[in-house]
Amino acid sequence: MPALNIAELQPLLRRREVSPREVLDLLRARIEELEPKIDAYLSIDFEAAAKEAEKADVDLPLGGVPIAIKDIINVAGQPCTCASKILRNYRAPYDATVIRKLRVAGAIPFGKTNMDEFAMGSSTENSSVKLTHNPWDLSRVPGGSSGGSAAAVAADGAFGGLGTDTGGSIRQPAALSGVVGVKPSYGRVSRFGVVAFASSLDQVGPLTKTVRDSALIMNAIAGHDPYDSTSLNEPVPDYTAALGRDLKGIRLGLPKEYMIEGIDPQVKAAIDDAVKQLQSLGAEIVDVSLPHTDFAIAAYYIIATAEASANLARFDGVRYGHRAENPKDLLDHYGRTREEGFGAEVKRRIILGTYVLSSGYYDAYYLRAQKVRQLIRQDFAQAFEKVDALVSPTSPVPAFKLGERTADPLQMYLADIFTNAANLAGICGISLPCGFVKSGSGGDTDSSRGESDGHRLPIGLQLLGKALEEGRILQIAHAYEQSTDWHKARPKL
Ligand code: GLN
Repeated sequence: MPALNIAELQPLLRRREVSPREVLDLLRARIEELEPKIDAYLSIDFEAAAKEAEKADVDLPLGGVPIAIKDIINVAGQPCTCASKILRNYRAPYDATVIRKLRVAGAIPFGKTNMDEFAMGSSTENSSVKLTHNPWDLSRVPGGSSGGSAAAVAADGAFGGLGTDTGGSIRQPAALSGVVGVKPSYGRVSRFGVVAFASSLDQVGPLTKTVRDSALIMNAIAGHDPYDSTSLNEPVPDYTAALGRDLKGIRLGLPKEYMIEGIDPQVKAAIDDAVKQLQSLGAEIVDVSLPHTDFAIAAYYIIATAEASANLARFDGVRYGHRAENPKDLLDHYGRTREEGFGAEVKRRIILGTYVLSSGYYDAYYLRAQKVRQLIRQDFAQAFEKVDALVSPTSPVPAFKLGERTADPLQMYLADIFTNAANLAGICGISLPCGFVKSGSGGDTDSSRGESDGHRLPIGLQLLGKALEEGRILQIAHAYEQSTDWHKARPKL
């Protein structure tokens, strides 16, 4: 049962062949067998979920479907720790809008998943709580920062999940864990009740086993929210409506700047094959240029850290979470609370972000990064005059080994090289499975030694679309997915 995707589970629920309570119990058994190996969850409240299941209306769009939630999204009464010590004992006093909307659609948000602390990272190793393991190879990372949701879905420990994507944190873990992940356009999905990392970049989106399942979750969570002034007041289409259409007349752009050195040769080969496949389905392939691509990572890490330094100022030991004991005075209270509560990566970002915003450096760094951001936006606008969507790898490499990049933050930042420009531009993106790398060539350094340890590591194909054209990229992704078997592969655990 837990191996089913949402679209397969629904008819069974609707025909009353299985009850939401039975589904939950079977999922629970699966998670209990899985968690010692994967460690995807930070907290699960099966009792609360069981109560919801008893009264679930299976005729609603997601009626009776349990959904895993990244621990940065507030679910009333449940812990919301952002995998940080500073929020270790924090419980959400209310539902985020996306949770409220999931409930309206009948879904059951039952557990909170592991992540990089405050969503800062690309491997989930910055969690202050524990490491999450990639279900395809337990010695490797699941990607991040939404690694818990990605690993849970990949291992059939969740029918679907929610993550957040500030610079790639839905798409990259989806790619590394072999599932589908959607980063909606900025403003498409409410951020109300989602702990803010970088407010001009953050978006909530689904992680699922199939493209259709992502469309189903998007139907539930997208839309205007008066509680989020950046949410767009635009009608929400039925994202499943365009699924099944062919690709005739669709123009897909290949950004030449994305074919960089450093892409794993097996990843490159898989993307080349995927492009041919898309072509055979009727899409026309066009070469395009995104000339400012080289500056995206630098601009992203200035803007994201600047916003993070402001957003994290609220964690002062007065209102939320951890508070240092016996402070000498107020300054000592703030200093030690934050010293004890935040991990190394979060501190690095606060320091960097404060620096780029400080007088004297603001013009040189922050303002300049905002100008670059505008150029990157224009790059995409020009490309989208010629094409309907862009195609690229999601990540230049498959899942790397746990510990391999933790000593080198810059190396870790490069994990987002193909994803974070989309956040700067506010456009939408999806990652979906498009093949496997034979392990041995999977990591970086120990890769070409020829010894395969028998693992297959998933590869992700990224499609980027214009703002508010989620329907289009879901359509293209679905056509590709249905013409391959990649999404049917399951890790052996
Ligand atoms: N890896 C990027 C970072 O560390 C992206 C994180 C995210 O999307 N939340 O900032």
